[in-house]
Amino acid sequence: GLTGNRGWAHHWRDPAPKAEYGIVIIGGGGHGLSTAYYLAREYGLTNIAVLEKGYIGGGNVGRNTTIVRANYFLQGNSEFYSHSLKLWEGLEADLNYNVMHSQRGLINLFHSDGQRDAFARRGNAMINQGDDAVLLDREGVRKHLPYLDFDNTRFPIYGGLLHPRGGTARHDAVAWGYARGADQRGVDIIQNCEVTGIDIENGTVKGVQTTRGAIRAKKVGIVVAGRSGQVAAMAGMRLPIESHVLQAFVTEGLKPAIDHVVSFGMGHFYISQSDKGGLVFGGDLDFYASYAQRGNLPMVEHVMEAGMTLMPMIGKAKVLRSWGGIMDMTPDGSPIIDKTGVDGLYLNCGWCYGGFKAVPASGNCFAHLMATGRFHGAAAGFRLDRFRTGRRLLDEEGTGAQHN
Ligand code: FAD
Repeated sequence: GLTGNRGWAHHWRDPAPKAEYGIVIIGGGGHGLSTAYYLAREYGLTNIAVLEKGYIGGGNVGRNTTIVRANYFLQGNSEFYSHSLKLWEGLEADLNYNVMHSQRGLINLFHSDGQRDAFARRGNAMINQGDDAVLLDREGVRKHLPYLDFDNTRFPIYGGLLHPRGGTARHDAVAWGYARGADQRGVDIIQNCEVTGIDIENGTVKGVQTTRGAIRAKKVGIVVAGRSGQVAAMAGMRLPIESHVLQAFVTEGLKPAIDHVVSFGMGHFYISQSDKGGLVFGGDLDFYASYAQRGNLPMVEHVMEAGMTLMPMIGKAKVLRSWGGIMDMTPDGSPIIDKTGVDGLYLNCGWCYGGFKAVPASGNCFAHLMATGRFHGAAAGFRLDRFRTGRRLLDEEGTGAQHN
């Protein structure tokens, strides 16, 4: 920077853990940090610790492909993601932090008459929810994305659903902004502190065991994304969650070429260009359960093939890096924000591969639940018991998750 990298202040303190807190949040990802932030900002609760086993930004919050959108169809999801997008739109002012939220527009391509009908319906649902959607025909897509292969691609392009308020945000800035905001309000953010046990007496949570000692707490929130199954098991719970790897890729920095987020669901491929110029893209899960934060070559090949058929120009770009993150997959592709059978123990998980866009609303709604004991209206559908009863499943896999 202009200071020659001298005199930069730490974004947040590095406190030693206290023996006791009012609230302990396990997991310093986007959802854990935003929960702590809203607990402090909206409910004045500041005797809080966020316990992170690694470093802030090292989990999925810093590994995702940064897409932010509100184009869900089903009631239950639709109002939640709409709430989240509105929070995104005020986030930089709220945090006084540049998270580089860029509403550059998201285009979901379709490739058949049936898919066109489905997207038209989805667009109408989005508009009814108060969000925005424009159905584009083939020529409409060509106007926005002239570089696509309209003639020889594996799945001919019939059109696309444009979501103008969709876009991207700088993922680790979101983590840092929430961490700083929470810290400024008195929340202790404690890195390198792994939770190894959850203390429960007579059905009530009493605290946690960590690699830095025991910490007592009146309330504990589990917000650990891909590790949800393992941490919930410390409280004797077996969750309807499987952890899977999702990979992503980035090329060398290029001049501006792609100024939207483009989603090619039929080919399991999506792409945008980062502000630094890298083409950021990815595809589907590796499709085997794993806790490894890296994927395997068959999916690399599949994603590259899909990119090449959609926009052959991408073949000239050099891939710089690929990486993976651990996704907490639920059977219906929708998340869980709920109390548990243990008094004072709360659960926030199941974000699958679409939880970055949810960071503001998830923290906002989870904080509401932890502070008041009542479910926030926008997240009322995310109850854990839907998997036991089979009622009110929110199965939106086709668009909810697959398109990130
Ligand atoms: P994390 O950042 O993983 O936070 C969980 C934290 O818990 C971790 O830091 C972990 O170290 C910590 N933890 C685990 N166990 C313990 C323990 N025992 N004690 C203490 N701490 C613990 N979503 C979108 O909306 N748009 C996208 O474009 C998108 N693309 C993606 C692309 C990829 C490649 C990946 C991997 C994910 C993508 N996602 C996307 C999904 C999104 O990143 C996740 O759903 C979301 O980040 C998960 O929530 P989180 O940020 O809280 O998770």
